[in-house]
Amino acid sequence: MDASARGKLLYKLADLVERDVDYIARLETLDNGKPYDSAHGDIEGAIKLLRYNAGYADKIHGKTIPIDGPFFCYTRHEPVGVCGLIVPWNFPFILTILKIAPAIACGCTCVVKSAEQTPLTAIYCSNIIFSTQAGFPPGVVNILAGYGPTAGAAISEHMDIDKVSFTGSTEVGRIIQTAAAKSNLKRVTLELGGKSPNIVLSDVDMDFAVEESHKALFGNMGQVCCAGSRTFVQEDIYPEFVKKSVERAKKRVIGNPFDTTTESGPQIDNEQFDKIFELIESGKKEGAKLECGGGRHGDKGYFVESTVFSDVNDDMRIAKEEIFGPVQQIMKFKTIEEVIERANNTSYGLAAGVFTKDIDKALTISNALQAGSVWINCWGAIKANTPFGGYKMSGNGREFCDYGLEEFTEIKTVTVKLPYKNS
Ligand code: NAD
Repeated sequence: MDASARGKLLYKLADLVERDVDYIARLETLDNGKPYDSAHGDIEGAIKLLRYNAGYADKIHGKTIPIDGPFFCYTRHEPVGVCGLIVPWNFPFILTILKIAPAIACGCTCVVKSAEQTPLTAIYCSNIIFSTQAGFPPGVVNILAGYGPTAGAAISEHMDIDKVSFTGSTEVGRIIQTAAAKSNLKRVTLELGGKSPNIVLSDVDMDFAVEESHKALFGNMGQVCCAGSRTFVQEDIYPEFVKKSVERAKKRVIGNPFDTTTESGPQIDNEQFDKIFELIESGKKEGAKLECGGGRHGDKGYFVESTVFSDVNDDMRIAKEEIFGPVQQIMKFKTIEEVIERANNTSYGLAAGVFTKDIDKALTISNALQAGSVWINCWGAIKANTPFGGYKMSGNGREFCDYGLEEFTEIKTVTVKLPYKNS
């Protein structure tokens, strides 16, 4: 198929998703529990991703290279082949599209596996893709619902799959990388977990920094790989920052995700629900100060109170492990040198944030942080045209934008001997 025709398929898919955006958002909320507005925002983000990648489809090309000697040399960016795309439950639809769109733009075919907790919007997506209106050739996109150790493992161990793009836990990322090594050494890109530092200096506008730090952690019920889950606050503003963060957390509206005033719905499942309480207990035992929350919200469903811990030390489990829930850890620091060292003292490296009005300090800190994304005076500013991915054990490779597209190609160097040198 012509590259421009692949682009057209993605433009068409974007239009069909846009037609059904309200329905898909409702399905996402029903399946995942996230507030409807957030679900709507996710689907709108997916539409932008489709159009971004659609526009790129006929602009993926190589170079001519002026090598020494009588040669003509050029590169071709060829599709990597059959791609296994394994998706988690926290952003089911947008992460499905984040993987399908560049695969198709580059000319690959794909086998997608949705998370067992949230198969509905992926199934709906397959319904759109297989409709005659969409025009996808049969077999190009295959969407499966299934469990990780069976369907997921079948993909990562398969000898005829050329690449796996995985988003999920660091633990499963390691299993997938091992399976690739033991089978056909397929290409593997991984978007994994994080324990991202959010550094707040004493010169900030307090209310703004409190609100942004709150959203950085509590958004999507804390179930975000790049949540700002280590909030480092400079010592002279620490007491006031903690006080205001607690006031804000107590105001957070938890409830029915279809209610327009709701800010947080339930956690995804029993397993995550129990894991969160186990970590809250460990925080209390290890001596952190529980400022608010810490319990179940209401008496049914997997709702967790908005929880804030202060006096958190770097060696406590709540400061080291990914909680993936609405639990904010606020730590105190004195100097910039100290906070850089502490922020980097983790096996993760997905994202980081700096809040300050001083541009010199902002750039000094952001250059020193070992993280794939650094946000200055904002959090989570991830767009279709910005790369996203992790340092260290937060992953391999990048997604979004042209960097993400590159991960779906193989580069071939073609060199032709010429009878004489003419360049
Ligand atoms: P998970 O790793 O358990 O599951 C993710 C996906 O992998 C699911 O589709 C699951 O079925 C599949 N899977 C599970 N075991 C498998 C196996 N043995 N072989 C192949 N596939 C397997 O993670 P989760 O609980 O769904 O999501 C939470 C985790 O994902 C958190 O740690 C979070 O940080 C991470 N996450 C990271 C990003 C990112 O962009 N870096 C985005 C979302 C979630």
